[in-house]
Amino acid sequence: MQPRKQDKYNLTFWEKMYIPEILKGMKLTLEQMLKKKETREYPEEKWVPPPSYRGAPVLVLEDNGVERCVACGLCSRVCPALAIEVHAAETEDEKERYPELFEINMLRCIFCGFCEEVCPEEAIVMSSTYEMAFTRYEDAIFDKEKLLTPVEKLRPRLEYLHAHR
Ligand code: SF4
Ligand code: SF4
Repeated sequence: MQPRKQDKYNLTFWEKMYIPEILKGMKLTLEQMLKKKETREYPEEKWVPPPSYRGAPVLVLEDNGVERCVACGLCSRVCPALAIEVHAAETEDEKERYPELFEINMLRCIFCGFCEEVCPEEAIVMSSTYEMAFTRYEDAIFDKEKLLTPVEKLRPRLEYLHAHR
């Protein structure tokens, strides 16, 4: 047998009076207002990602001004988005090869981190950059000039990789 409508909620006398329930609701609202804020006033208030964050991939530039990359092409081979183009050339330096052209198409990149994972020289790493907007296609093609980043700036990510690989 279906319960009669008035039995369904089974309210107490004070619940039927509404006022205590309204006060309970207001107390809950007040508690939430006094809690620590979880929202951020972005973009004025920037988020600083932890070292585990995978932002845009960049190339590591040593303190002596030499890039780590030896143009082996592994990153380009493994990239699932076909976002990397590397052209190798020979150099007199100890490393013998360097990339005369290294480009990443940031419109294709899906920030998967595979390039960072396969690189034998730790020459390409995921930076903390997460803000990128382009109005022209050409601006999204990052060449060496845009990609090379001083090793000191990438230290937190490199230390994270050493600790967790
Ligand atoms: S992060 Fe992934 S998609 Fe982006 S360049 Fe590296 S391998 Fe390609
Ligand atoms: S970044 Fe690393 S994997 Fe890619 S070409 Fe250079 S050395 Fe090879």
